[in-house]
Amino acid sequence: MNVIFMGPPGAGKGTQAERIVNTFHIPHISTGDAFRLAMSQGTSLGIEAKGYVDKGLLVPDEITNGIVRERLQQPDCEKGFLLDGFPRTIAQADALDGILEQLGKKLDHVINLNVDRDRLLARLTGRRICKSCGATYHVMFNPPKQEGVCDKCDGELYQRSDDTEEKVGTRLDEYVSKTKPLLVYYQDKGLLREVNGEQDIDVVTSEICSLLERG
Ligand SMILES: [Zn+2]
Repeated sequence: MNVIFMGPPGAGKGTQAERIVNTFHIPHISTGDAFRLAMSQGTSLGIEAKGYVDKGLLVPDEITNGIVRERLQQPDCEKGFLLDGFPRTIAQADALDGILEQLGKKLDHVINLNVDRDRLLARLTGRRICKSCGATYHVMFNPPKQEGVCDKCDGELYQRSDDTEEKVGTRLDEYVSKTKPLLVYYQDKGLLREVNGEQDIDVVTSEICSLLERG
Protein backbone atom coordinates (compact mmCIF):
# COMPACT_ATOMS: atom_id res chain seq x y z
CA MET A 1 0.00 0.00 0.00
CA ASN A 2 1.63 3.18 -1.22
CA VAL A 3 0.28 6.30 0.41
CA ILE A 4 0.97 10.03 0.52
CA PHE A 5 -0.19 11.85 3.62
CA MET A 6 -1.09 15.53 3.49
CA GLY A 7 -2.55 18.01 5.92
CA PRO A 8 -1.90 21.47 7.34
CA PRO A 9 0.08 22.13 10.51
CA GLY A 10 -2.08 21.35 13.53
CA ALA A 11 -4.30 18.83 11.72
CA GLY A 12 -2.84 15.91 13.67
CA LYS A 13 -1.01 14.47 10.70
CA GLY A 14 1.94 13.19 12.75
CA THR A 15 -0.27 11.29 15.18
CA GLN A 16 -2.35 9.72 12.42
CA ALA A 17 0.69 8.83 10.31
CA GLU A 18 2.23 7.06 13.31
CA ARG A 19 -0.91 5.02 13.88
CA ILE A 20 -1.25 4.08 10.21
CA VAL A 21 2.34 2.86 9.84
CA ASN A 22 1.98 0.80 13.03
CA THR A 23 -1.29 -0.74 11.84
CA PHE A 24 -0.13 -1.56 8.32
CA HIS A 25 3.55 -2.21 9.09
CA ILE A 26 4.85 0.15 6.44
CA PRO A 27 7.64 2.72 6.88
CA HIS A 28 6.84 6.37 7.58
CA ILE A 29 9.02 8.34 5.16
CA SER A 30 9.57 12.03 5.65
CA THR A 31 12.10 13.87 3.53
CA GLY A 32 13.81 15.03 6.73
CA ASP A 33 14.37 11.44 7.89
CA ALA A 34 15.42 10.33 4.39
CA PHE A 35 17.95 13.19 4.27
CA ARG A 36 19.36 12.33 7.69
CA LEU A 37 19.66 8.67 6.72
CA ALA A 38 21.42 9.44 3.42
CA MET A 39 23.78 11.87 5.20
CA SER A 40 24.58 9.44 8.00
CA GLN A 41 25.21 6.64 5.50
CA GLY A 42 27.37 8.98 3.45
CA THR A 43 25.76 8.11 0.11
CA SER A 44 26.89 10.38 -2.70
CA LEU A 45 23.49 12.10 -2.73
CA GLY A 46 23.66 12.39 1.05
CA ILE A 47 27.04 14.10 0.82
CA GLU A 48 25.76 16.47 -1.87
CA ALA A 49 22.68 17.29 0.19
CA LYS A 50 24.79 17.93 3.27
CA GLY A 51 26.80 20.47 1.33
CA TYR A 52 23.66 22.52 0.74
CA VAL A 53 22.27 22.04 4.23
CA ASP A 54 25.56 23.07 5.86
CA LYS A 55 25.55 26.29 3.84
CA GLY A 56 21.94 26.92 4.83
CA LEU A 57 20.82 26.52 1.22
CA LEU A 58 17.75 24.78 -0.11
CA VAL A 59 18.53 21.29 -1.40
CA PRO A 60 17.77 21.23 -5.17
CA ASP A 61 14.90 19.07 -6.37
CA GLU A 62 17.08 16.64 -8.30
CA ILE A 63 18.96 15.71 -5.12
CA THR A 64 15.79 15.51 -3.02
CA ASN A 65 14.14 13.34 -5.66
CA GLY A 66 17.21 11.10 -5.82
CA ILE A 67 17.20 10.62 -2.07
CA VAL A 68 13.50 9.77 -2.12
CA ARG A 69 14.19 7.28 -4.92
CA GLU A 70 16.95 5.61 -2.87
CA ARG A 71 14.69 5.47 0.17
CA LEU A 72 11.81 3.89 -1.77
CA GLN A 73 14.18 1.20 -3.06
CA GLN A 74 14.94 -0.01 0.48
CA PRO A 75 13.59 -3.48 1.28
CA ASP A 76 11.24 -2.17 3.99
CA CYS A 77 9.22 -0.39 1.26
CA GLU A 78 8.32 -3.64 -0.49
CA LYS A 79 4.95 -3.88 1.25
CA GLY A 80 4.34 -0.18 0.92
CA PHE A 81 5.18 3.21 2.36
CA LEU A 82 3.65 6.34 3.80
CA LEU A 83 5.21 9.48 2.34
CA ASP A 84 4.93 12.58 4.53
CA GLY A 85 6.07 16.04 3.42
CA PHE A 86 6.85 14.95 -0.13
CA PRO A 87 5.96 15.91 -2.79
CA ARG A 88 5.56 19.61 -2.02
CA THR A 89 5.29 20.86 -5.59
CA ILE A 90 3.85 19.70 -8.90
CA ALA A 91 7.40 19.27 -10.22
CA GLN A 92 8.19 16.92 -7.33
CA ALA A 93 4.90 15.08 -7.87
CA ASP A 94 5.82 14.54 -11.53
CA ALA A 95 9.25 13.31 -10.48
CA LEU A 96 7.67 10.93 -7.98
CA ASP A 97 5.45 9.51 -10.73
CA GLY A 98 8.56 8.78 -12.77
CA ILE A 99 10.40 7.23 -9.82
CA LEU A 100 7.48 4.94 -8.97
CA GLU A 101 7.08 3.91 -12.58
CA GLN A 102 10.77 2.97 -12.77
CA LEU A 103 10.47 0.98 -9.56
CA GLY A 104 7.32 -0.77 -10.77
CA LYS A 105 5.22 0.76 -8.02
CA LYS A 106 2.11 2.90 -8.08
CA LEU A 107 0.38 5.24 -5.68
CA ASP A 108 -2.81 3.92 -4.11
CA HIS A 109 -4.05 6.89 -2.08
CA VAL A 110 -3.32 10.51 -1.33
CA ILE A 111 -4.92 11.23 2.02
CA ASN A 112 -5.66 14.82 2.92
CA LEU A 113 -6.57 15.64 6.51
CA ASN A 114 -9.03 18.48 6.39
CA VAL A 115 -9.43 20.85 9.33
CA ASP A 116 -11.16 24.22 9.31
CA ARG A 117 -8.78 27.20 9.45
CA ASP A 118 -10.33 28.66 12.62
CA ARG A 119 -9.94 25.37 14.41
CA LEU A 120 -6.31 25.10 13.33
CA LEU A 121 -5.73 28.64 14.56
CA ALA A 122 -7.23 27.77 17.93
CA ARG A 123 -5.09 24.62 18.20
CA LEU A 124 -1.88 26.28 17.12
CA THR A 125 -2.18 29.53 19.07
CA GLY A 126 -3.20 27.91 22.37
CA ARG A 127 0.25 26.92 23.55
CA ARG A 128 1.62 28.64 26.65
CA ILE A 129 5.06 28.22 28.19
CA CYS A 130 6.27 28.90 31.72
CA LYS A 131 8.89 31.67 31.87
CA SER A 132 10.55 30.08 34.89
CA CYS A 133 10.60 26.32 34.35
CA GLY A 134 9.67 25.89 30.67
CA ALA A 135 6.61 23.70 31.33
CA THR A 136 4.15 23.81 28.43
CA TYR A 137 0.36 24.11 28.55
CA HIS A 138 -2.46 24.52 26.07
CA VAL A 139 -5.39 26.79 26.85
CA MET A 140 -7.85 24.22 25.42
CA PHE A 141 -6.25 20.81 25.77
CA ASN A 142 -3.99 21.15 28.79
CA PRO A 143 -4.89 24.32 30.70
CA PRO A 144 -3.15 25.31 33.93
CA LYS A 145 -5.30 25.34 37.08
CA GLN A 146 -5.10 29.12 37.20
CA GLU A 147 -5.03 31.07 33.95
CA GLY A 148 -1.58 32.41 33.10
CA VAL A 149 0.13 30.73 36.07
CA CYS A 150 2.35 27.61 36.04
CA ASP A 151 0.97 24.70 38.09
CA LYS A 152 4.46 23.51 38.95
CA CYS A 153 6.28 26.67 39.99
CA ASP A 154 3.74 29.54 39.96
CA GLY A 155 5.78 31.10 37.14
CA GLU A 156 4.22 33.37 34.55
CA LEU A 157 3.01 31.74 31.31
CA TYR A 158 3.69 33.34 27.95
CA GLN A 159 2.98 32.73 24.28
CA ARG A 160 5.92 32.22 21.92
CA SER A 161 6.13 34.81 19.15
CA ASP A 162 5.80 32.00 16.56
CA ASP A 163 2.48 30.99 18.09
CA THR A 164 0.68 34.31 17.67
CA GLU A 165 -2.43 34.42 15.53
CA GLU A 166 -0.68 36.56 12.93
CA LYS A 167 2.32 34.26 12.50
CA VAL A 168 0.24 31.08 12.57
CA GLY A 169 -2.26 32.57 10.13
CA THR A 170 0.54 33.39 7.70
CA ARG A 171 1.93 29.85 8.01
CA LEU A 172 -1.50 28.33 7.34
CA ASP A 173 -2.16 30.56 4.34
CA GLU A 174 1.22 29.68 2.87
CA TYR A 175 0.48 26.00 3.33
CA VAL A 176 -2.89 26.28 1.60
CA SER A 177 -1.61 28.24 -1.38
CA LYS A 178 1.33 25.86 -1.87
CA THR A 179 -0.61 22.62 -1.56
CA LYS A 180 -3.81 23.51 -3.39
CA PRO A 181 -2.31 22.75 -6.84
CA LEU A 182 -1.08 19.38 -5.53
CA LEU A 183 -4.51 18.44 -4.23
CA VAL A 184 -5.99 19.28 -7.63
CA TYR A 185 -3.21 17.27 -9.30
CA TYR A 186 -4.05 14.14 -7.31
CA GLN A 187 -7.78 14.72 -7.56
CA ASP A 188 -7.44 14.68 -11.35
CA LYS A 189 -5.66 11.34 -11.05
CA GLY A 190 -8.49 9.97 -8.91
CA LEU A 191 -6.17 9.41 -5.94
CA LEU A 192 -7.26 12.12 -3.51
CA ARG A 193 -9.11 11.00 -0.36
CA GLU A 194 -10.40 13.76 1.89
CA VAL A 195 -10.71 12.88 5.57
CA ASN A 196 -12.42 15.13 8.09
CA GLY A 197 -9.68 15.81 10.64
CA GLU A 198 -12.01 17.69 12.99
CA GLN A 199 -13.43 14.46 14.35
CA ASP A 200 -12.22 12.63 17.43
CA ILE A 201 -8.71 11.32 16.71
CA ASP A 202 -9.79 7.67 17.04
CA VAL A 203 -12.60 8.26 14.54
CA VAL A 204 -10.14 9.87 12.13
CA THR A 205 -7.82 6.85 12.47
CA SER A 206 -10.58 4.34 11.82
CA GLU A 207 -11.82 6.29 8.80
CA ILE A 208 -8.33 6.30 7.32
CA CYS A 209 -7.87 2.60 8.08
CA SER A 210 -11.14 1.57 6.46
CA LEU A 211 -10.30 3.70 3.45
CA LEU A 212 -6.94 1.96 3.13
CA GLU A 213 -8.40 -1.49 3.72
CA ARG A 214 -10.86 -1.00 0.88
CA GLY A 215 -7.74 -1.06 -1.27
ZN1 LIG B 1 6.84 26.74 35.76
